[in-house]
Amino acid sequence: MRWKTAELTGWGRVLSGAVTLARPERPSALAAIFTETPAPAIGAQRSYGDAAINSDGAAIDMNRLDRFIGFDPETGVLNAESGVSITAMLDTFAPKGWMPAVMPGTGFATLGGCIAHDVHGKNHHGAGTFGQHVLSIELLCVDGSLKTLTPARNKDLFAATIGGLGQTGVILSAKIQMTPCSSRLIQVDERRAANLAEFMQMLKSSTATYCVGWIDGTANGQSLGRGILEEAELTKSNMAPKLRKPRKVPFNAPKFALSPPTVRLFNTLYFNRIPTNGRGVLRSLGDFFFPLDKIHDWNKLYGKRGFHQFQCVLPDATAEQTLREMLRLIADAGLASPLAVLKRTGAGRAGPLSFPMEGFTLALDFPNSDKSRALVKQLNKMTAQAGGRIYFAKDSLATATQIKDMYPELADWQKTVAAADPEGHFKTDLVRRLKLRETA
Ligand SMILES: Cc1cc2nc3c(=O)[nH]c(=O)nc-3n(C[C@H](O)[C@H](O)[C@H](O)COP(=O)(O)OP(=O)(O)OC[C@H]3O[C@@H](n4cnc5c(N)ncnc54)[C@H](O)[C@@H]3O)c2cc1C
Repeated sequence: MRWKTAELTGWGRVLSGAVTLARPERPSALAAIFTETPAPAIGAQRSYGDAAINSDGAAIDMNRLDRFIGFDPETGVLNAESGVSITAMLDTFAPKGWMPAVMPGTGFATLGGCIAHDVHGKNHHGAGTFGQHVLSIELLCVDGSLKTLTPARNKDLFAATIGGLGQTGVILSAKIQMTPCSSRLIQVDERRAANLAEFMQMLKSSTATYCVGWIDGTANGQSLGRGILEEAELTKSNMAPKLRKPRKVPFNAPKFALSPPTVRLFNTLYFNRIPTNGRGVLRSLGDFFFPLDKIHDWNKLYGKRGFHQFQCVLPDATAEQTLREMLRLIADAGLASPLAVLKRTGAGRAGPLSFPMEGFTLALDFPNSDKSRALVKQLNKMTAQAGGRIYFAKDSLATATQIKDMYPELADWQKTVAAADPEGHFKTDLVRRLKLRETA
């Protein structure tokens, strides 16, 4: 097997590391790699921080293992190699009446990456996480053996693999239960929320299948926490969706592109484009679920310095007060980019390290600087104090101590992982930075 040297970078372009990389195209090639060097798998590298980096070590790029193995049009059960992307699943099976039950905000994410972070989507309050729709996993273990994991067979390993950050082995393929999809268009209703209290109330009382909020991270005073709520339902329309060509960002944007006055102006225009009594629009599934994918390499908009994404989830009991304090701090700092999301989350999660909890999740991007790092660290601290959690798929600045309190089932997960990979072949930069495999 050919190994090459490569630089792996998180989507935020702040954390990176040199690795020795293999890109197998067949399961037999992957098996041969394992007899030589067992190493962590990486997917499409859409994690923002260091989850998919193994500095000065080896890594296995799974993107070429991207075949559909089987599909039952009666039940919607799909069996696929782990390098298949969410977009490939949606584009292939939506015309046949099925789609992934849970989709993150980017269609570039792979099946393996979605399992390893137990990702959530715009329907988490109803459908739970991606892992809750996984029926079985074929896991390549550190000794080169292949194990079938299901909720009944090797059940501890199954749970530890979902949201398990690639630490139990390499997911070769998985069977997932898809959900019926009546068309390739979705009806989206957009309404303004004047402030945080109104926004949270609208999110709480929404009965829509898909529900997500854009929040203005620059608004302060009476408008603190204002935003736009999007509620969406699949339609029965059989009109073909209008597909827009993806665009590329050709170069690293200069600093002024995201200066505070530019962001404030953009956000005001963005908020006011929705009429006061709301509006309804018909969108293609891709446009609604993956709005940022239309601009390839949009992460270059933050320039060479890169950016941090802060994403927390807060329990209902502390959410409103904490969000208010966080948003005040963010607006006063004037550092937020326009990319900011507020969502309601349900209790659904499939593994001990899964992120969601019943409450609210807030996600914001900040251009990388001394000031924004200090701000994100402060927000992480507030999350910990409020009994919330930081998301491993986004994090670059949390501390090991904070994480231990946020993930109380960590010790159970560590036991299963220690048995699956006693020598630590699958460790990544994130796992080392947050000491996730060090027992207390
Ligand atoms: C624009 C954007 C929007 C996003 N929106 C959401 C969202 O709404 N909800 C959400 O939950 N997340 C969201 N994310 C995060 C993203 O869904 C996750 O980071 C996801 O894991 C990325 O998949 P990937 O294939 O790029 O995995 P990578 O980033 O390459 O890897 C992620 C982790 O998975 C492990 N892994 C990958 N493949 C395998 C495998 N075959 N076997 C074992 N382990 C493996 C890696 O070791 C690593 O720990 C978003 C990211 C972006 C860029």
